Amino acid sequence: MTKPIAGFSKLTKEEKINWIATHYTHDPKDTIRILESYWNQDTSLQKLHDEFIENTISNLYMPMGIAPNFLINDQLYAIPMVIEESSVVAAASKAAKFWLKKGGFKTKIIGTEKVGQVHFIFNGEFEKLEQFFNKTKPKLIADAFSLTTSMSKRGGGIVNIVLRDKTSRLDNYYQLHCTFETQDAMGANFINSCLEQFANSFKSEALQYDAFNAKEKEIEVVMSILSNYVPNCLAYAEVSCPVDALTISLEISPKAFAEKIVRAVDIAKIEPYRAVTHNKGIMNGIDAVVLATGNDFRAVEAGVHAYASRNGSYSSLTHAEIIDGIFKFYIEIPLALGTVGGLTKLHPLVKLNLEILQNPSAKELMQIMAVAGLAQNFAALSSLVTTGIQKGHMKMHLMNILNQYGATEQEKVTVIEHFKTHTVTHSGVVNELDSIRKK
Ligand code: NDP
Repeated sequence: MTKPIAGFSKLTKEEKINWIATHYTHDPKDTIRILESYWNQDTSLQKLHDEFIENTISNLYMPMGIAPNFLINDQLYAIPMVIEESSVVAAASKAAKFWLKKGGFKTKIIGTEKVGQVHFIFNGEFEKLEQFFNKTKPKLIADAFSLTTSMSKRGGGIVNIVLRDKTSRLDNYYQLHCTFETQDAMGANFINSCLEQFANSFKSEALQYDAFNAKEKEIEVVMSILSNYVPNCLAYAEVSCPVDALTISLEISPKAFAEKIVRAVDIAKIEPYRAVTHNKGIMNGIDAVVLATGNDFRAVEAGVHAYASRNGSYSSLTHAEIIDGIFKFYIEIPLALGTVGGLTKLHPLVKLNLEILQNPSAKELMQIMAVAGLAQNFAALSSLVTTGIQKGHMKMHLMNILNQYGATEQEKVTVIEHFKTHTVTHSGVVNELDSIRKK
């Protein structure tokens, strides 16, 4: 069995690779070859990537595609998407083209509030704590002045600090529930720095507060951290058109199609098993743009799914309705994004993708991403309620299977031609490839 290693982080990159290759892989020479083959030839670019995280040994890159023809508030966008799953970019492009001729997507920002909390334990009377908090609140804000000066100049900063009594859920547990405006930054570092300052000031002020007894003076700060639950940092996007204009194929009438979409969304609203997959489809679009723009996909995912459960049961993030002959399909989604900070100005491709998106503000990027999610969901639902999802999906998957089995260009052409009239299955593709090779 491999022994634990001490000081791995102190090894050189080559030493790290040798260690992992010899201890954990069956062919160390080949492991080293694979890892090195994904290094960037430009050594300064590779160094930049090496320094994004710790113990870097190689790069795992993903395809970056473009979904063009997104008309958003009368402006045309080509949206960069980074994703490993086939069909996503094609579906987004198809939905964009469909709505292009119908006025495109309309979007707005509902809110941009970010949240952070200081979680603490207080052994004493709530009324005394409340009095102390009300007296100390201006000092908390004043002590964070050096952290907030430049954010305030941009129109952001601390919005409010509220004391929350959580003792009904956990003995002696209280919070400073803090709200922020972080403009074009996602805000994690800014918020966490402010929270740690609040915590320090709060603790030291308590020690000097005469009305507290000895036990009350000893406020125990458990942690100070932003929340990725941002129900008031919301983007809204919609598409709408007369039901009669919803011609998707000759096999289904526009009216039947519209009604099926509404029913499919209604099911996702009340059935969590369906809602999770429904929302996963939305996140296919959103995550791809989150990655392309160097944003934090874990933060976005966590916040989105918490929002989908906000009423006590996991539910659809999109909504569909038909009112007076007009079909409307819309989304309201929490997105804490940055167009500055994090990787946004560091990764050359992220920088380029933001340029392709016309260097959006964080608010504009939130709206673009909401559109990407809505478009993706429209495309998925369109397939689901008509032909089923597998027809298109397996066609796209065909190329992955061919590449997996090392098909030559000529073999690809022959197999693709064959499956124009046959159903794509994994074994079917492998058999067809085998029979060509035997010939
Ligand atoms: P950064 O700290 O990298 O950058 C944000 C800073 O950029 C701001 O605080 C501000 O600093 C400056 N800035 C310059 N121009 C603007 C502008 N127009 N609007 C707003 N700020 C501007 O990033 P974030 O604080 O946004 O943090 C994001 C990173 O934190 C991500 O990489 C994320 O992965 C990571 N993270 C996430 C956590 C989570 O989600 N739970 C936890 C910890 C980290 P100044 O005012 O001083 O100029």
